[in-house]
Amino acid sequence: MAKLGVGELSGLREGLLPTQRPADVDYRLARQATLDDWRRGSLGRDVLCDAQPMLRRNAVECGTPTSETCPVCEDYEVSHVTYVFGPRLPAHGRCISTPGELARLNARRAGLTGYVVEVCAACGWNHLVRVASLGRG
Ligand SMILES: [Zn+2]
Repeated sequence: MAKLGVGELSGLREGLLPTQRPADVDYRLARQATLDDWRRGSLGRDVLCDAQPMLRRNAVECGTPTSETCPVCEDYEVSHVTYVFGPRLPAHGRCISTPGELARLNARRAGLTGYVVEVCAACGWNHLVRVASLGRG
């Protein structure tokens, strides 16, 4: 597996959650491995592009835009969708669209987990970018 250069590291996108190194790099490498498998033909596009309709809709309505083109369809910019899971939040997580909303949750509640997912609303490509613990306690 190719090593990431310094330039690629600084190119890691931020999303709404704080970046975590080296954890973010692990997700980045897993993403690359998935794409490599697909390009070699050992993974079907239906496996890569399995975003549910709700996730695609969230990518459009509350995702953070990126300047990165979708690696699968190469036709559309991917968005970062931030979900927070935890006590008293919906079972499917709460989709967070602003830094202020995230800060309020982070200040108020304990035991929350945030996920940032890269999503292409056009083809359904999705991959985990970042996981972080949030909340007090
Ligand atoms: Zn796409």
